[in-house]
Amino acid sequence: MTDAVRLSLDEVRDLATRVLVTRGFSDAQALAVATTVTAAERDGCTSHGLFRIPFYVAALGNEAVDARAEPVVATDDSAVVHVDGALGFCPLALERGLPALAERARRHGIAALAIHDVYNIAALWPEVERLAGEGLVAFAFTASNACVAPAGGTKPVYGTNPMAFGWPRADRPPMVFDQASSACARGEIQLHLRAGEPLPEGWAIDERGEPTTDPATALAGAQLPFGGHKGAAIALMVELLAGALIGDLFSAESKARDTAKTGAPFGGEYLIAIDPTRHARAAPVPRGPAGGHLERAEGLFAEVLSQDGTRLPSDRRYAARERSVVDGVEVQGELHARLTELAGSPAAGTGPGA
Ligand code: NDP
Repeated sequence: MTDAVRLSLDEVRDLATRVLVTRGFSDAQALAVATTVTAAERDGCTSHGLFRIPFYVAALGNEAVDARAEPVVATDDSAVVHVDGALGFCPLALERGLPALAERARRHGIAALAIHDVYNIAALWPEVERLAGEGLVAFAFTASNACVAPAGGTKPVYGTNPMAFGWPRADRPPMVFDQASSACARGEIQLHLRAGEPLPEGWAIDERGEPTTDPATALAGAQLPFGGHKGAAIALMVELLAGALIGDLFSAESKARDTAKTGAPFGGEYLIAIDPTRHARAAPVPRGPAGGHLERAEGLFAEVLSQDGTRLPSDRRYAARERSVVDGVEVQGELHARLTELAGSPAAGTGPGA
């Protein structure tokens, strides 16, 4: 086992960028992906950190991918912004589309961003945190590759289909949650496989529908939604919003399209941004509660946190962030060696399963 390597966040971004540019990504696509991967490392979200870079490289095995794509933003007078991701990766499409979404949300009170035709293997919290950091309330949804069985079923129909939500806070980072609608993200199963560790009960079933804790059997079988039918309903909603509503692929269609078996989900991402200052009652009214949205939310957060054992979603990430901006992050030795090899020469590249 190779020793872990400690890297500064600049070194993480630089390593990720070098790998991607060496493998044929444009500077803009590479930097956008490297920035989101670095944010994940910074916030202790290792399953979406450098670990993902070989997946981005492997995605190039799908001949439809354009790692040099230039996303195109389309707006009209309405509150809906579209970005054609042009077969590139989602982070650059988001970078191009988010300013227009924020501007429309302020203009109309609520607005949506439909991102089309992107490969999306990133976490969703960076985009909702960014919008909430600008004072907006934000949602994000994306379907992925079918690997989750519907409640009561045995065959994958849904992806791990995450949704994220961000709420602004005065003088501190926003409250954000970002969660898969499956019991775990697929990357967690891959990390357990790599570490040779069994899965917790309730994450997956084998190909016959029997519960399994073996990561390889789980990857061949189906993951389970979190909370049975409740997680399954959210997975279904995500398919409808990020698939049917905006004219992009369902998770099963994305998987069927992935004939090279790169594992990179292809389709859309759907975001909603709300300007909270446009949603309050035209108050103050005598029977309404006192305080604005920020103040009221802080009261609720304080009540939650007054109980031992609680925390707010995103508190773990922000605590990790405080540490890693000072100390850097530890990267698994084998992963670091592999990335250094991938950054070396184009001929050395192989997929993540190698
Ligand atoms: P987790 O179950 O680890 O966490 C879900 C959320 O719950 C986080 O916001 C987390 O905050 C919060 N949380 C966890 N524990 C507590 C607690 N005790 N009290 C309060 N809040 C808590 O995430 P998932 O495994 O479901 O998803 C991981 C990532 O995978 C997500 O970022 C998601 O976007 C990504 N993903 C991406 C897909 C894609 O196709 N692009 C597909 C599926 C998932 P905190 O972060 O602070 O711990």
